[in-house]
Amino acid sequence: MKPSFFDLTYDDLKNLLIEKGFSPFGATQIFDWVYKKWVHQPEEWSNVSKAAKEFFKENYDFALLKVVWNGLSKDGTRKFLVKMNDGQTVESVAIAARDRLTLCVSSQVGCAVGCTFCHTATQGLKRHLKTSEVVLQYVTIQKWLMDEVSSDVKLTNIVYMGQGEPLHNFENMKKATLIFMSEKGLGLGQRRITLSTSGLVPAIEKLAEDFPPVNIALSLHSARNDVRTELMPINKVYDLERLFKAIKLIPLKAHRRITYEYLLIDGMNDSMDDVVALANLLNSKESKINLIPFNEFPGSKYKRPSEQKIMWFLDQMIKRGFTCTIRTTKGSDILAACGQLKSEFEKLNLWDNERPVVIPSIASSVLQNQAR
Ligand code: SAH
Ligand code: SF4
Repeated sequence: MKPSFFDLTYDDLKNLLIEKGFSPFGATQIFDWVYKKWVHQPEEWSNVSKAAKEFFKENYDFALLKVVWNGLSKDGTRKFLVKMNDGQTVESVAIAARDRLTLCVSSQVGCAVGCTFCHTATQGLKRHLKTSEVVLQYVTIQKWLMDEVSSDVKLTNIVYMGQGEPLHNFENMKKATLIFMSEKGLGLGQRRITLSTSGLVPAIEKLAEDFPPVNIALSLHSARNDVRTELMPINKVYDLERLFKAIKLIPLKAHRRITYEYLLIDGMNDSMDDVVALANLLNSKESKINLIPFNEFPGSKYKRPSEQKIMWFLDQMIKRGFTCTIRTTKGSDILAACGQLKSEFEKLNLWDNERPVVIPSIASSVLQNQAR
């Protein structure tokens, strides 16, 4: 099979052109055609040499991912299930908020980290996504939105918060980030990309030295080692002390403040002791806290705290001088937390492999399960 064009960073492309005896300046034109003009047929690149066009047509694959299902939520969130060449699928979610349209992309099929609250974890790790499969989530969905919604809809931000642990797939996510940020192509600024990690310490140390300067979100979920270990088995290996030693290495100037994601689970990490531990662990000037009310899914063993409890926790953190926000659950009426869509649809066989098949009555019963 031909390699995907979407695996190439701008520098890779330039080097490839040189290696094949073409002018390296062609890289600017080619990135422009592919990522700005959305023309993925080399024969149409009018300002590129004939030989280079033929080379890319012969040797590179420009296929997008296949959107096998998509669903629009009442709040404007649209979930996509996209299929890759080997038939595996992952989710990407487009979330509209204020003046932004953020795409939440997946980094792996499944995940090896095994957090006890996470639906993706139940699948284990099936495989890492290739650079091109990450980039293509963006390209495929941007193109889908232009074709199906309106030609002027534009994704403005990306978060690596879909299925998988991005830092476990370090090199591919790094390359995908370089492609997203390339001025010659999509040109997404560093503030428009957020990487969320469960706290893979060796990879954080590497990130501090060698990763484009994107926003960092850390899935903390508890400031107490015993509770965090119960929620996230990775804490057994890299506990809070080791984790924060690594976090301190991240150059804050480039990465600005770090966002700490804090899942709120009823009776688990939402007490006064948890508030105090969190306030003692974090520095309010260098951290932002994003509270995420737990998203229940069929078979999940945890519960979401009451609205009142969530507001109380928020209030406690604000009182202690923290910038603290609540992540509203987006798209809960179309199956919420990461990984749920894929599994529910596989179980219920709501779609077949080729055609998007949605049977509204069955879908809505899944949604009702979800809402409970
Ligand atoms: N693996 C990375 C990024 C993907 S998960 C990480 O863990 O950070 C993105 C976010 O979704 C994480 O903060 C994760 O804790 C959260 N999440 C997972 N399952 C959830 C659930 N059932 N309800 C709410 N948030 C959940
Ligand atoms: Fe993996 Fe993140 Fe889910 Fe944990 S929360 S299992 S790290 S995807």
